[in-house]
Amino acid sequence: MTDRVLALLDGTLADPAAPLVRAGDLGLMRGDGVFETVLVEDAAPRELTAHLARLVRSAGALGLPAPHPAAWRRCVAAAVAGWGRPDELSLTLVHARGTAPDGSAPTSFAFGMPVSPKRRRLRGTGVAVLSLARGVDPDLVGRAPWLLHGVKSLSYAVNMAATRYAESQGADDAVFTAPDGTVLEGPTSTVVVAHDGVLSTTPPDLGVLPGTTQAALFEAAEAAGWRVAARRLALADLWSADGVFLTSAGHKVTRVRSLDGTPLRDSSALAAELSGLLEARYANRAVHSWNEATT
Ligand code: PLP
Repeated sequence: MTDRVLALLDGTLADPAAPLVRAGDLGLMRGDGVFETVLVEDAAPRELTAHLARLVRSAGALGLPAPHPAAWRRCVAAAVAGWGRPDELSLTLVHARGTAPDGSAPTSFAFGMPVSPKRRRLRGTGVAVLSLARGVDPDLVGRAPWLLHGVKSLSYAVNMAATRYAESQGADDAVFTAPDGTVLEGPTSTVVVAHDGVLSTTPPDLGVLPGTTQAALFEAAEAAGWRVAARRLALADLWSADGVFLTSAGHKVTRVRSLDGTPLRDSSALAAELSGLLEARYANRAVHSWNEATT
């Protein structure tokens, strides 16, 4: 397969079509491991430092040995070189427990493939979103660390099921809500709301994954005069917003067209403005270059 790339942690490339994982790998059997999905564009991985920091944090939450960022950089560099094309690559870094329960023999690799045509199309058209109950009280987050909220573990079956359910109902994507109606995050994205020159997102202490794209967007937007905030958002805040967006490495800044079947305010112009701010950040290669000492 030419539209796949696989790099191992020692910096070598492997055949992406060849078997790699053993049947007894606990990452496969239990979803016991962590991952990151990095967008590579023009042969440069975006927000790699933040992704690697999050990988380390997630691994810590699962009691896995800490991944070595330098080894992962080498692995990412190999994958990017192996891809060898300027077009977008969705590069997933997998750090699974492997066959040893103590994590002493982890399965670690970077696997890349093109961003799906559907994801790319939805960036342009915007998404119809369904709000779905996640059922977990955010106040539990601190008291129940075993729930792994805000951790990018391989156990994403619920997130995938939520997306499929939303699609079965005619929507494109979902946002999770807490029992008290607080808006949390999408199954694979951060929720960002624009209102009166302020960009807001759900605070990480409510058990959402801190998004690397949201953080990058907020930095760029703040430099351009926006105010930014992390605050509890209710569905009512989405209804009254100037714009609602889902952000992730894959979504970039995707506007939400409708919520639970009802159109939201047209935010095409805002989406273009925010996307422009984010893309401008990467026009300056130094900010995200993976081989720069500070990243
Ligand atoms: N929230 C969840 C649950 C996610 O899975 C993701 C990414 O896949 C995000 C937010 C957005 O994170 P990032 O911007 O780092 O891709």
